[in-house]
Amino acid sequence: MSSYDYDLFVIGGGSGGVRAARVAASLGKKVAIAEEYRFGGTCVIRGCVPKKLFVYASQFHEHFEDAAGFGWEVGESRFDWKKLVAAKDQEITRLEGLYRKGLTNAGAEQIDSRAELVDAHTVLIKATGKTVTAERIIVAVGGAPTTHVALPGHEHCISSNEAFHLEELPEAILIEGGGYIAVEFANIFHGLGVKTTLIYRGREILSRFDQDMRRGLHAAMQAKGIDILCEDVILSVEKKAEGELIAKTKQGKTLEVGQVMLAIGRSPNTRGLGLEQAGVAVNERGAIIVDPYSRTNVPSIFALGDVTDRVQLTPVAIHEAMCFIETEYKNNPTSPDHDLIATAVFSQPEIGTVGMSEEQAAKAFEELEVYRAEFRPMKATLSGRAERMIMKLIVNAADRKVVGAHILGHDAGEMAQLLGITLKAGCTKDDFDRTMAVHPTAAEELVTMYSPSYRVKNGERV
Ligand code: NDP
Repeated sequence: MSSYDYDLFVIGGGSGGVRAARVAASLGKKVAIAEEYRFGGTCVIRGCVPKKLFVYASQFHEHFEDAAGFGWEVGESRFDWKKLVAAKDQEITRLEGLYRKGLTNAGAEQIDSRAELVDAHTVLIKATGKTVTAERIIVAVGGAPTTHVALPGHEHCISSNEAFHLEELPEAILIEGGGYIAVEFANIFHGLGVKTTLIYRGREILSRFDQDMRRGLHAAMQAKGIDILCEDVILSVEKKAEGELIAKTKQGKTLEVGQVMLAIGRSPNTRGLGLEQAGVAVNERGAIIVDPYSRTNVPSIFALGDVTDRVQLTPVAIHEAMCFIETEYKNNPTSPDHDLIATAVFSQPEIGTVGMSEEQAAKAFEELEVYRAEFRPMKATLSGRAERMIMKLIVNAADRKVVGAHILGHDAGEMAQLLGITLKAGCTKDDFDRTMAVHPTAAEELVTMYSPSYRVKNGERV
């Protein structure tokens, strides 16, 4: 019998924390999990899930337009933001209930309170002021939108957190950032009828993606009517008496908008968590430093998910939680595999990607074969929509392994999931060539690009 109150105490009820708590409890461990806001974490409550619901909502006006080409006459349409927010909230509440139910069924105690570390085995429950002890503690408190205190008028700006609960849709919005969140929300707001401007400090949006994806998406977004200002940043935001915001940019532009949204990254949520007291080391960004088994420098304290700032993605946090369970409770040391993570940007069109960009691969390998197809998707032939789909396979010429796969277009995220398996399995281009096409699909292009579009030798396109 352990001398602690719990075998495992988890701080943070997001994707990673809930998974670790639920599975540990189902293995018979005495587990408690504390959450200060809502169970489900960023992904379920104010991230991936509500975002995807908003993406669907924002696509309907294009569906209505496209319908005409297929013989449909669609009557007058009207969008009700409040109805969407209410429907989304209802779904999120349902999902939160499922998270709670899973924990209850497994026998994990849920504590609706902030919890902070006191020492290597002790946690303070803020709501009651009580302390409890645990043999092992997991910190899985996630991240929060990076604030921009140096920006005059930053207090007038919103982050993705508030974007999910705006009282009303603004007529115009300015979004700062060129990453996942900025790009996805620019498309959402535009699709819902908001005049949208994206401002990004670099030369091209989505800095860590393949150039073709970046350029292709930029062009598609601009063609829809989204204004993209590159190599520019917001210098100040001022609020007028009537509530409108005036944003001034470095390049000398002045924009009058209803909302300014900052999407300049997410930072680990570690402030005031008692890490220092417990002796847990953090890096310069405040992220908890962990070893390959998610263990901090304090042997009884573990950290997983966004708070460790390894890869800020829900499936990664869940995977890290499962590795913790294998290592600590199943006597099977397993470290998370962060290689070849397939991911999607739910922009419109979507990006689905796995593996290296052409630029990364050109640095890693002596010679590449690049297979690239750009075409008009079938649906666009009758809808008349001017849209292009881009597919790209990056192949290491030496062993024919596909080291990167990138798609811009409808359902790219769905395709990236399956491509992830092939790259993880180490498939070569010959494996792709031997695979029969599914016809008629867009994805068939992935197995019918027979000869390289070009080669890259020693970093140079030939
Ligand atoms: P990202 O890291 O993707 O992008 C941050 C953006 O902000 C970059 O374009 C960056 O520019 C820019 N930036 C950073 N600091 C400043 C600054 N001081 N001034 C102006 N611009 C700045 O972060 P997000 O906030 O978009 O998303 C956070 C994380 O959440 C992502 O990394 C992702 O892992 C996850 N996420 C995943 C989604 C998905 O899977 N579909 C959806 C949403 C989020 P630069 O490129 O020059 O550094």
